[in-house]
Amino acid sequence: MNKNTFVIFLLISFLFISCGQVKTSESFTAMNTYMTVSVFAPSSKKGKQVCRELQEKVCELESVLSTTLSDSDVYQLNHNKFISEPVTPELSELLDFSKQMYGRTGGAFNPALYPVIREWGFTTEEYKVPSAERIQELLLNTDFSKVECNTEGLRLSDGMELDFGAVGKGYAADKAVEILKANGIKSALLDFGGNIQAVGKKPDGSLWRVGIKNPWEGGAAAAISVESKAVVTSGGYERFFEKDGVRYIHIFDPKTGCPSSSNLESVTIICESGRYADALSTALFVMGSEGAVAFYRTNPDFDFVLITKERKLIYSAGLRGFIEPLADFSRVECTADSFEN
Ligand code: AMP
Ligand code: MG
Repeated sequence: MNKNTFVIFLLISFLFISCGQVKTSESFTAMNTYMTVSVFAPSSKKGKQVCRELQEKVCELESVLSTTLSDSDVYQLNHNKFISEPVTPELSELLDFSKQMYGRTGGAFNPALYPVIREWGFTTEEYKVPSAERIQELLLNTDFSKVECNTEGLRLSDGMELDFGAVGKGYAADKAVEILKANGIKSALLDFGGNIQAVGKKPDGSLWRVGIKNPWEGGAAAAISVESKAVVTSGGYERFFEKDGVRYIHIFDPKTGCPSSSNLESVTIICESGRYADALSTALFVMGSEGAVAFYRTNPDFDFVLITKERKLIYSAGLRGFIEPLADFSRVECTADSFEN
C-alpha cells in the first residue's frame, strides 16, 4: 500500500467509524407485555449498556405502578387508601398528568374505573357480566378528580382504586426517551407491547415505518412513516370475551361502567409524547368516531387513525403523504374543519 492509498484508507475508516451505528436489540417482559428495544449506538458495548438502562427503568416503573405486585406504590395506595409524603416522583407526575387528561377528555380517560373493570373479570380473566345494580354501586366511587394529593401524601376515598394501565406504557416510553437522549442516542425504536416510540430517524436518514394492525384479517391496515413520534393503538380486538353472542372488550366507557360499544375497532394516536398518545388512544376509542373527531377539532395537537366497525379508515390531514393504506377500507381524510372522501 503506498502512502496515498494508506491516507485514503484511514480517511474511509474514520468516516465509517464516525457515521457507523451498530444496532443492538433486547427483548424482555414487563408491565404484562413483551417489549423490544432497538438502539443504534456507536458500539455494541454502548448499545447493550443503554438497552440495560432502558429495561431497568421500565422495571422500576412497573414496581411503582403495578396493581398486582404487593410492594408497589399503587398496590399500597389501593389497599391502604393512603401513602404518605414523599410520594414517588413518577407516581406524582403520572397522577397529575392523568388528572389533566381526565378533565380534558370529559372523563372518558379514567384510571379510577379499576374496581368496575375488575368486577367484569378483566384482571383475572374470570369473565362475567355484573348486574346493573352492582355496576351502579361501583361507579359511585370512580370520580378521579377526588383523589387527594396534599402535603401529607396521597389519599383515596373508600372504595376507590386506581390503575394506570391505559397510560403507563406510554409514560414508560417517555422515560425511556429521556434515557436515550441522556446517552446521546439519535436513533432507536421502542416497542412496548404495541406502543411504538420512534426516536429520531433511521440511521440511514429515512423515516421509521410503523404498521397499524388490520383488526379483522391480521397483517397491516396501513403504515405510517414517522420521525421522533409515539404511535399508540388501542384496539377492541386486543382483549375481550363473548357471552350470548355479545362481545365485551377491555376498553370501558366510564359513563356506563360497561365495555365500550363505540363504533370503533381501533384508534391510533401519533404525537411526540408517549403518555399523551396512550391516554388519548383509550379516551378517543370510548368517544367513538364523531366524538374523537370533535375532540381533535378543539385539541388539534396530535394525529390519528380511526378504524370503524364499518371498515372505514378516518385519518387526520397531518398524516397526508405519511400514511400508506394497505387494506381495502374506505378512506376519509379529516382536516381541522372538514372531511374529504
Ligand atoms: P389501552 O390498551 O391503552 O387502551 O388501555 C386499556 C386498559 O386500560 C384496559 O385493559 C383497562 O385496564 C384500562 N381501561 C379501560 N378503559 C379505560 C378508561 N376508559 N380509562 C382508563 N383506563 C381504562
Ligand atoms: Mg392507552
